Amino acid sequence: TVRTRVAPSPTGDPHVGTAYIALFNMCFARAHGGQFLLRIEDTDQTRSTPESEQAILDSLRWLGLDWDEGPDVGGELGPYRQSERMDIYGQYAQQLVDEGKAFLCYRTAAELNELREAKRAAGDSNALKPSELLLPEEEVARRKDAGEPYVIRMIVPEDAGTCAVDDMLRGTIELEWGMVDAQILLKSDGMPTYHLANVVDDHLMGITHVLRGEEWINSAPKHKLLYEYFGWDMPRLCHLPLLRNPDKSKLSKRKNPTSILYYQRMGFLPEALLNYLGRMGWSMPDESEKFSLQQMQDNFDVQRVSLGGPIFDVEKLSWLNGMWIREDLDQTQLAQRLVEWAFNEENLMKVLPHAQKRMETLSDFAPLASFLVSGTLPIDEESFAAIKGEREDVVKGLQFALWKMEALQQWNRDSIWNELKGVADALDVKVKDFLAPMFVAISGTSASFSVVDSMELLGADMSRARLRHAIA
Ligand code: ATP
Ligand code: GLU
Repeated sequence: TVRTRVAPSPTGDPHVGTAYIALFNMCFARAHGGQFLLRIEDTDQTRSTPESEQAILDSLRWLGLDWDEGPDVGGELGPYRQSERMDIYGQYAQQLVDEGKAFLCYRTAAELNELREAKRAAGDSNALKPSELLLPEEEVARRKDAGEPYVIRMIVPEDAGTCAVDDMLRGTIELEWGMVDAQILLKSDGMPTYHLANVVDDHLMGITHVLRGEEWINSAPKHKLLYEYFGWDMPRLCHLPLLRNPDKSKLSKRKNPTSILYYQRMGFLPEALLNYLGRMGWSMPDESEKFSLQQMQDNFDVQRVSLGGPIFDVEKLSWLNGMWIREDLDQTQLAQRLVEWAFNEENLMKVLPHAQKRMETLSDFAPLASFLVSGTLPIDEESFAAIKGEREDVVKGLQFALWKMEALQQWNRDSIWNELKGVADALDVKVKDFLAPMFVAISGTSASFSVVDSMELLGADMSRARLRHAIA
């Protein structure tokens, strides 16, 4: 039977791209009467967080996706979180070493740099090969005895030639072996890389079809070779086109909000967002624009995926969302949606600590909190009139803040505060003066909750979108 999976890494906010890939995998599995599973790829322990994992699971569920097996629902071939499968990867890496298909590499970072430089200087753009990485036997023995760190790398073909990879949409793709490096399989701390863990797990979890982003095409030769080394059947591969910004560049948070949490906070309906993601490179046989998950599943044919880069256009999404609001919800349902979305107890309890102390009557609440349930704020240059300093400096400050906020990994009031304080210090302005324009950008007025609290409440992508809008 057909088994597919989505395999997100919990290293940040839940990405719309993850939902898109999950949707297509789920539809493919369901259309073939198979199973769809969710696996958490958290082998990068420095970047993975439990909060991110929870946010991914919650957002995918919010969208209406559901998986037959996964870390939260269990299943026979678990555990479905790679950090709980570490022993398995070590054993398989060792097996490859024992069979002469992988080797222990004691090269230091400095040596690797030197080797790469020398190669580049010689006009050779190929990847470093096992033969170039190997050290004389005595030297390996010496480093081993000295307890120096090593990684396990896979052996890859050294001679020219190509690897033929079959793709369900693209047919046979030929990739140069020259570009394929002696991939690290196990890092010096014993952690597997994506390539090893992904191949081992896809095999052990009985995955038959891998639908993933086209950014992985170049990794396919390594994966194919690993399947051959282990003597396993390789799942069929299908590389889906990546989502793009309206300017055709790869969708990225520097240009557009990419977090599902942003679209949630903007008030998009999950069924509309899912519908829109379903139109990314795919269409219904009758070309209808509005369709439900059930309709997509019933009509799904992966061969209808077109390879031209699908554009994720928030304006089109808004238009579609409007159709869902007007055509699919009666007023009682719309009232329920509003209550669930903005006025549920959980949300209110997050806002009240900031609002209560500023309230005399209940009617003070709406003006205080309206910025939290608004999308883009209606602000322009005028809105900053009361702020000290030249427009130019205000914009510069906001731009610096935005850059910092784009790079911030952990979104909470303390880390936001530290970053903003850091920029203010670096620019040699008082924090209070530096934050004044941020109040306006984030909450639309200069008298509101503390701006860091507001940013924490609004979330990363909404805060970034507001800063971007304020300097546009
Ligand atoms: P950004 O450029 O916004 O930082 P990224 O590639 O660094 O994006 P990640 O956080 O690494 O984003 O990716 C999270 C998940 O979203 C990954 O599974 C990745 O494959 C997927 N993803 C990222 N960008 C796209 C895209 N343009 N289309 C489809 N999926 C994407
Ligand atoms: N963990 C990988 C990612 O986040 C999975 C890629 C794949 O589907 O093989 O994109």
